[in-house]
Order: sequence, then structure tokens, then C-alpha cells
Amino acid sequence: DLVSPKRALLSVSDKAGLIDLGRALAAKGVELVSTGGTAKALRDAGLAVRDVAELTGFPEMMHGRVKTLHPMVHGGLLALRDDAGHLASMDEHGIVPIDLLVVNLYPFEATVARGGDYDDCVENIDIGGPAMLRAAAKNHAFVTVITDPEDYAPLLEQLEQGGTTLRFRQECAASTYARTAAYDAAVSAWFAQTLETPSPRRRAFAGTLAQTLRYGENPHQSAAFYTDGSGRQGVATAVQHQGKELSYNNINDTDAAFELVAEFDPADSAACAIIKHANPCGVARGATMLEAYKAAFDCDRTSAFGGIVALNRPLDAETAQEITGIFTEVVIAPGASDEAKAIFAAKKNLRLLTTDGLPDARSGGLTFRQVAGGFLVQDKDNGFVGLDDLKIVTKKAPSAAQMEDLLLAWKIAKHVKSNAIVYVKDGATVGVGAGQMSRVDSALIAAKKAERMAEALGLPQPLTIGSAVASDAFFPFPDGLMEAAAAGATCVIQPGGSMRDAEVIAAADEAGLAMVFTGMRHFRH
Ligand code: 5GP
Repeated sequence: DLVSPKRALLSVSDKAGLIDLGRALAAKGVELVSTGGTAKALRDAGLAVRDVAELTGFPEMMHGRVKTLHPMVHGGLLALRDDAGHLASMDEHGIVPIDLLVVNLYPFEATVARGGDYDDCVENIDIGGPAMLRAAAKNHAFVTVITDPEDYAPLLEQLEQGGTTLRFRQECAASTYARTAAYDAAVSAWFAQTLETPSPRRRAFAGTLAQTLRYGENPHQSAAFYTDGSGRQGVATAVQHQGKELSYNNINDTDAAFELVAEFDPADSAACAIIKHANPCGVARGATMLEAYKAAFDCDRTSAFGGIVALNRPLDAETAQEITGIFTEVVIAPGASDEAKAIFAAKKNLRLLTTDGLPDARSGGLTFRQVAGGFLVQDKDNGFVGLDDLKIVTKKAPSAAQMEDLLLAWKIAKHVKSNAIVYVKDGATVGVGAGQMSRVDSALIAAKKAERMAEALGLPQPLTIGSAVASDAFFPFPDGLMEAAAAGATCVIQPGGSMRDAEVIAAADEAGLAMVFTGMRHFRH
């Protein structure tokens, strides 16, 4: 089943490795046929190339929209070499076989990522490329198709051994359909996003393999990281400066950390989040990054060990120095000073990631979750509540300072697994209760942690005394609220909307609490 190609069609946007490949093929006596830019590159390197226009009898036209869309090309790719009827058709129409196809597509995803305008994106939708790829992949019994420049070397190895094996052609065909599917999904995602309210009927999902991972959530699970072609700032666009390769859990936690700090406008204040198992164990704002980091760290020093740290401003030297005080898995920030990088260089295991900017917390997009037999897809939770959206429901109104802490607690609660209870004081979390099946337990656990921290720090009382507390969803009964009050919270932010709101408000009034309703819920499961 070895196929040793006589004729190759090369049509590539990414010209990396093209010349070496062309040379190696020519040396094996393979005839090279190419489209405009690819032919020019090969010719410039001194190789003999036939223009595809000569094959089709048509010039490339319409700014390249029509180059290879012709029976001479598609017949040459699709004809079954062992079918008398197909061979007769080839004979009749003078179609010559093409047994090797090397195509990579117009850089559609890169055009979107660099913010190309509508027309630019449309023009970068490759038509002939995917058509040829799909045709050649279908006919993998006879045709070898290469779309990933990483397959150039394996291809040449195969040819060295006398031809491509069926297994290799099948693998390449599989890569091809993965590529064309991901490509069209990227087009679909872009298109949907240009519509104001895209119907789920009008979009599809797929990703492009970015990286295979050593293992998944656990060592016995294999895993990989796929990008969605959106170019959204975040862990997918981050540059790693040092440290071991990121693991599956690192990527997941780093994403949670960076999305959280992205809620804080760097123009207003520095902000830092420390994440463990996708939940924050400390978040704080500060006049400087050092101040923010220290305050975040003081929320739960025990859990911060081995955590992931995200910053909303570039990493500076003094913060870098402070972070090296304990073991930290990953630090992600929109940049880092050379001095900060030098400080981290001594910590070989610490991974430093930088991006060109923060993710846009208000942008749209989709989130996915897998269930048996399918996916659940929803809009990203980009809900935002400002001062004007709040409704004071108690006799007591929060002070301006309390309002600030309430809004901070609310922003953070959005990033804590439900049931989420977040205590904040003076711009920093002082207790986070995450992922409990009962809201009362979340309130209790967060308060208990605050007590432990007070003991560890030698404070006279837990920092939850006099704090602001946020609940990601309404209190169905007064009990959860009362736990928060018992922990010392003096003001509360929650969505409201419970059947028993009146009862909960009465309990708050009785306890002398100030409470505001957001009218918006932030479940996160
Ligand atoms: P070149 O740089 O050789 O001029 O063009 C190479 C690119 O053209 C490749 O990315 C290939 O997928 C794409 N391509 C080949 N044939 C066609 C066609 O008929 N229409 C369009 N739109 N693109 C094509």
C-alpha cells in the first residue's frame, strides 16, 4: 500500500519549511505544481515548478478567490486509481493524477486575532484550500495530504522508505479533517460574534490543538489544550518565561486567577488574586501591587501555599521578591519588569507567564461544559453590577466605604464556586467560603478560616468583624445571613429574589445590618 508520489500540488500560506520540502521532493523526481505565491517562492529558490494555471487552463482570478477550484485539480485529487470508470474519465478529459497535496490555509484565525476588520476577515476565508484538503483526504487510499508543516519531516521519512504507508495517509487525512473542521468553526465563531444575538443554530464549535499536556486532572488521564481561535487575552495567549511546562490544572487555575483580576481596572488600583483549585483563597486591591499581594496573602496563608497568583498590572521587583517568600506554582501578569524576571530566575520551578493585556471582563463569549453525550454551552458570565444598580433594602444604608467593600465582595463572589460566601474588609478578602452544598456552611467555613488566620497572625479578633459579605445567590432563609452576622459582618450584598426576602430583610434589620440587592445572580458550578 505504499504510495510514491509522481506529482505534488503545493499551495501554502505559511511558507515555513516550504523550500526544503520542495527541494527534497524535486530531488526524488516529484513534479511540483503550485499556486501563485507558493510557485514564486519555489522558483526564487531555483526549483522547477508548474503553475496550477497551466494545469487548469485558467488564470488565477478574483484576487485569488478562484485558483484551484477546477476539475483538473479536483479530478486529479479525487479519482480512484483502481476504478476503470474513473481512469476513463481522466483519460477523456486529460486529467493528470495528483498524489501529494501540501496545503495550509489562509491565516483566518490570525486575522481575527490581530483585530482584522470585517472585509479583511472575509477575504481570509480560504475556499480552494479546504476544498482540496477535503478532496485529498477523502482519497487517502491513493493520495497523501499534508496540512501541518510539522508533518513535512515525517513525510520525507516515509518517502525515504519507498512511499507513504496507508497508516500515514490515514493519520494525515485525520489531521486534515481536524484542521478544516477547526478552521470552519473559527469562521463560524467569528461570524456569530459579528451578529448581535447569534442563535445557537448559527454557530459551531471546535478548537485547534495548541499543546498536548503531560496528563490531565490526574496522572492516568491524557489531556491536551486547544485554542478556540478567538485570540482572547489570557492563558492561551500568555508567554511563559520560565519554569516547568504548565499542567492541565495549572492552566485551569491560571485562567480562573487571571479572569478574576481582570475584573479590576488597572487604572483604578492594583489587584491581586491567589487561586487554589480554581477558587480564590485571597483577593485584594492595593495602592501598590506589593500591598495588594500582601493583603491577598493574609486572607488565607495556609491555602496560598502552592497557589497561582494573578496580577492586574505588570509584575514589579518588590512584588516578585515578596512572592518568592513561599512556594507558588504560577504567576500571571500583563507584563513583568526585567528586574522582576531576574528575581524569579532563581526560582526554577516557578512559572512566570505574561500577556500583552488583561482579558476583557465585559466581553461576550461562550463557556462550555461537558455532560454525558453532549456539551452545555452558555454565554460567559460577563454580568456587571455598579453602584447605581444596587437597591438598599434595610433600614440601615451602607456607608460609602462599606459600599466599596460590598461591590468588591460581589465581584469576587462571581469567581467563587457556588455556594459562594465572601467576606471583605478594607479592600481585601478576609474569608472565602466556596463550593459548599449549603450556603450556611459556606458562611461558616469562611468565618472559621478567618478565625484561624487571626490566631496565626496574632490578631485580637478575626478580620470578619466589621466586614462586608457577599452571597452569590439569594439567602433562601435567614440562617445563612445570621451566620455571616455572627461572624461579624455588618453589611450584605446579595441578589435578592427569594420567596422569603421579607423574612430575610426583617432578620437583617433586627441584627442591625445594612443590606443591598443586586438583582443579579452569579452562580458558578
Ligand atoms: P499562494 O501563496 O500560493 O498564492 O496561495 C496559497 C494559498 O491559497 C493557500 O493558503 C491555499 O489554501 C489557498 N488557495 C488555493 N486555491 C485556492 C482557491 O481556489 N481559492 C482560495 N480562496 N484560496 C485558494
